[in-house]
Amino acid sequence: MRLANKVTLITGGGSGIGKASCLLFAREGAKVVVVDLKQETADSTVQEIRDAGGEASAFAADVSKGADCEAMIAFAEKTYGKLNVVFNNAGVFHPEDDSVTNTAEAIWDMVIDVNLKGVFLGCKYAIPALLRAGGGSIINTASFVAVMGAAAPQIAYTASKGGVLAMTREIAVEFARKNIRANSLCPGPVETPLLAELLSDPARRNRRLVHIPPGRFARPEEMANAALFLASDESSYVNGSTFLVDGGITAAYITPE
Ligand code: NAD
Repeated sequence: MRLANKVTLITGGGSGIGKASCLLFAREGAKVVVVDLKQETADSTVQEIRDAGGEASAFAADVSKGADCEAMIAFAEKTYGKLNVVFNNAGVFHPEDDSVTNTAEAIWDMVIDVNLKGVFLGCKYAIPALLRAGGGSIINTASFVAVMGAAAPQIAYTASKGGVLAMTREIAVEFARKNIRANSLCPGPVETPLLAELLSDPARRNRRLVHIPPGRFARPEEMANAALFLASDESSYVNGSTFLVDGGITAAYITPE
């Protein structure tokens, strides 16, 4: 098993990419701390893992709050004795996050608080625990929009993901000689509840699909597989990377008809 004897913590583990990653990490032998905003949501992922014979515990936390992040890391160490992998994956996408000229300050603050500050806080409190364990792997969820602009704007979301990318690189360099690796997972568009409303509109769906070389959106499990690689020792020389899992969107100029 690819994560045998590893203790992992995944934020946003109640849905989408986070949930698929919790289930996969547990199948690969990890003990998984499932963190989500609501206890019930985290509990339901834990139940699925336990039903399949895996080991997991739930913890409710708002990643935009320092005290919550400190507590989730303490919970992981107290429950399983150490922490080897942190996957800072929780994120939000707000329907009123739009062009720079008409996005409200409150929407900007809310998105940046969760998507960027939440990752900062996750790293801030996880790194001392990873050092106590002799090192580890940090995976921060950015997005392909961290490296591309879109004419269907979502300014706060895009800025937050660009910040995650830059912050992760710096962490990767600072802690490399202390046996900590940090990488940004940059998904292309994935069919999860995050985009459900947007993708339910055929015009908006097709506006995006036309730019995706394989002609389909990703599945959460496809991101979980990438996160598994970054979490495991198989990626021991992968550090500070912009790990794009986007079906080739960022490679494309003209896509197939
Ligand atoms: P999702 O909405 O299915 O799941 C996100 C989870 O995060 C939810 O369970 C939610 O409760 C939790 N969450 C939200 N705010 C939180 C907070 N403050 N504290 C703790 N938990 C919180 O979304 P997803 O599509 O699985 O997205 C996961 C990550 O992937 C996000 O960072 C997102 O920005 C990123 N991403 C998604 C896509 C996509 O197309 N779906 C593309 C690129 C990047």
